[in-house]
Amino acid sequence: MTRGTAGTLTIDLDAIAANWRLLAERAKPAQCAAVVKANGYGLGAGEVARRLQAEGCRWFFVAHLEEAVRLRETVPELPIVALNGPLPGLERNFVEHNVLPALNDLGQIEAWQALAKRLGRKLDAVVHIDTGMNRLGLNASEVQALAQDKSRLDGLKPFLWMSHLACADLENHKLNLDQRDRFLSALAQLPKATASLANSSGIFLGSAWHHDLVRPGAALYGINPVPWAANPMQSVVTLTGKILQIHSVDTGIGVGYGAEWLARRPSRIATVGVGYADGYLRSLKERSVVFFKGQPLPVVGRISMDLITVDATEAAQQMRPGDEVELLGPHIGADELGERGGTIGYEILTQLGARYHHRYIGAVA
Ligand SMILES: *Cc1c(COP(=O)(O)O)cnc(C)c1O
Repeated sequence: MTRGTAGTLTIDLDAIAANWRLLAERAKPAQCAAVVKANGYGLGAGEVARRLQAEGCRWFFVAHLEEAVRLRETVPELPIVALNGPLPGLERNFVEHNVLPALNDLGQIEAWQALAKRLGRKLDAVVHIDTGMNRLGLNASEVQALAQDKSRLDGLKPFLWMSHLACADLENHKLNLDQRDRFLSALAQLPKATASLANSSGIFLGSAWHHDLVRPGAALYGINPVPWAANPMQSVVTLTGKILQIHSVDTGIGVGYGAEWLARRPSRIATVGVGYADGYLRSLKERSVVFFKGQPLPVVGRISMDLITVDATEAAQQMRPGDEVELLGPHIGADELGERGGTIGYEILTQLGARYHHRYIGAVA
């Protein structure tokens, strides 16, 4: 099949489902949610949520109201939490779409309460408690204020108390223990509701971090939640690019912008139609490899907006325009590409760009 796109992004829904089941099993008896913000970490929030809903996932998290509204088309009934919360005046929009905003300070709780009063019915409240990330959520004194004045929750039904770990991917970091203790002490003061602390890596810290609900994102998509050990997750995404042209260059001849890379021997250079505008980071210059039929070939010269150049001199097999190379996949995962490019797998996935043909394999639901 010929398509006029940068490349093909193949997303294995069976692998995402298997990853969710592994995390859910590990978190038991806690429930396992799915975080599908940023369009399911770049892989398609609707497709991911449809499949995970069929697997038994009963909670979904996104960042923004807009993301939640779109997800409502796929997830008509189950709770969708928008982590970034409601800015003043927007509370009503959340109710209209049956989206739960994470309430991140006392003011947001008051506004949510005022809306409940105007509507003349109780509203479910998701409250984010800051236990050490210092990003979003009620601080310790706000938690205390909430606990001491029960009227602050009048008209609201506590639905979820949540907090977020700052260092879960760092084994034995002291903050993991501190955040868990602070979360427990907040919970002890507050009325009973579902409690949630762990992200992907947090699940692997142990059952003391699981509470009632865990919220994995990255691990669902194949990112290693335990960077200090072998990746227990299945590979989910494969990105292939098409070879557009193959050049022969003599010793001493430059390739690409700045003519920075010079051939040290007579070389064959394959040009692939993917570039930094497609999320193939410019910082990967001469730090990356692509795979042709499983064989690694070094990326040479600068990364262009729409193109990369690869030293294909060693390609054992005959290579032709139209052949595909693996840029990201089983041979070189998002974590490794991130490391080579000076970032993390999360950023690699979420920056993949809009010019690929998205192909889903595995059962849709
Ligand atoms: C993004 C996010 C998650 C998921 O984190 P992963 O590391 O991708 O598992 C969970 N909770 C909150 C509040 C988040 O912002």
